[in-house]
Amino acid sequence: MVPEYRNCIGGEWVAASSGDWIEVRNPADTDDVLGQVPASTVADVQAAIAAARAAFPAWAGLTPPERGRVLHRAANLLETQVDAWTSALTREEGKTRMESQREVVRSVELLRYFAGEAWRVGGDLLPADTPNTLLYSLRVPLGVCAIITPWNFPLSIPVWKIAPALVVGNTVVFKPASATPIMAIMLTSLLHEAGLPAGVLNIVTGAGGALGDALVTDAGIDAVSFTGSYSVGHALYQKTAPRLTRTHLEMGGKNPVIVAADADLDKAVQIVAAGGFGLTGQACTATSRVIVERPVLQAFTERLVATARNLKVGPGLSDGMQMGPAVSTGQRTTDLDYIEIARSEGAKVLAGGGAPEGSVYARGHFVQPTVLAGLTPNMRIAQEEVFGPVIGLLEAGDMEEALAIANNTSYGLSAGIITTDLRRAIRFAERAEAGMVKVNQGTVGASIQAPFGGFKNSGSGMFREMGKGAVEFFTKVKTVYIDGQ
Ligand code: NAP
Repeated sequence: MVPEYRNCIGGEWVAASSGDWIEVRNPADTDDVLGQVPASTVADVQAAIAAARAAFPAWAGLTPPERGRVLHRAANLLETQVDAWTSALTREEGKTRMESQREVVRSVELLRYFAGEAWRVGGDLLPADTPNTLLYSLRVPLGVCAIITPWNFPLSIPVWKIAPALVVGNTVVFKPASATPIMAIMLTSLLHEAGLPAGVLNIVTGAGGALGDALVTDAGIDAVSFTGSYSVGHALYQKTAPRLTRTHLEMGGKNPVIVAADADLDKAVQIVAAGGFGLTGQACTATSRVIVERPVLQAFTERLVATARNLKVGPGLSDGMQMGPAVSTGQRTTDLDYIEIARSEGAKVLAGGGAPEGSVYARGHFVQPTVLAGLTPNMRIAQEEVFGPVIGLLEAGDMEEALAIANNTSYGLSAGIITTDLRRAIRFAERAEAGMVKVNQGTVGASIQAPFGGFKNSGSGMFREMGKGAVEFFTKVKTVYIDGQ
């Protein structure tokens, strides 16, 4: 019997009004059916918005610490179930057990961090122009927030949006990615077990293309927080603009790393391989372009190729695996298509370049860790996001040229340099056109307390996720003048 997961609308666990379902399978073994989730309809979306609206006044009327305690309890519950959630995450998304465990533990930390915001969110006391007057500003919730998430961090991205939205008093309609809806439903269930009142968090699963417009253009939606591809995010922005709906977009990347001639090459290889092949390259911050200064190009390339060839690729739940499958057959096709595009553009495949062979790979969406050499800056493979385990190498004559290549992209999410020269590091940090700059660290990975978001086509830019930025996005500022006479 295939497990049946349901939408949560107004605190009720319900099937889609159409009665239709979507099957979810393990990307490492497509014979492994994990369950089915509702193929929701526009009517379901509207019911979820109505439930969130109805729940808003009471939830917003609680004190912030009362709301924060729910998140604290959710963190405590999740912490006692890390192993089970780790396995569930790997079975649904495909990442290795270690990668999934990091994401689950990070989600516990995110819940705790945003629970703590309950005791910090406030405003400013300002000097008044007249005597006996109290002048202050405070942050108030927006109302009902639509939260739309991708599949690559199926637990932590929803947490880093939903937790700040809730703690400041908003209610939420959550539309998770169709590749990983079970994690999203488990998170919704966890928050209810932790004491979230009915209607405060509502989830509707189903195709974004069919449900998206109804969700983001509804008059009952006060804000939209979206993470996903540039093409979907860009189109979504046009739809929320007419109603002036506050909208936050975090989108794709084509993240560069410069390997300077003075770099420690072993460290550089380790950082680049982890950034490009970790999470199967399915991170918005994944390293995809490596710009190597000419004197070290050959030595660096040889070591990176050896590392790529030695990576253990296989089902994420099997012991010792270093890289899991692509999330879906569609993503694998995209990865392989881009490798072919690169070949046709004149790039050389030095490692990988296809799907691995063998019975262990027969029922999964596996792709070999791939190293491409001989890229030039304007090739499609050097410009477009692949979202797979594909690293492209470019050559630079000096630091100026390397910087120009690094910035030669429509994206601007994360950018790194490996160098032992502090002046180069500082110059790079000043001039890299990216929302996040890493010196001698991988392009992937961000601290909860630090602002996170992209420049250029990687993000809508006005707000940041995590850190203080999350609370800023999910609140509006009210200024109060009180004449005490
Ligand atoms: P996607 O195809 O853009 O989908 C993202 C979300 O939008 C999914 O829930 C999707 O639902 C939904 N959606 C699809 N069409 C929609 C529409 N017309 N209106 C409203 N929502 C719609 O992206 P993805 O493949 O899930 O994720 C990969 C992308 O996310 C990559 O580009 C990656 O770089 C980016 N990403 C960015 C960040 C960041 O913080 N910058 C982090 C992680 C990932 P369905 O799944 O049902 O289609």
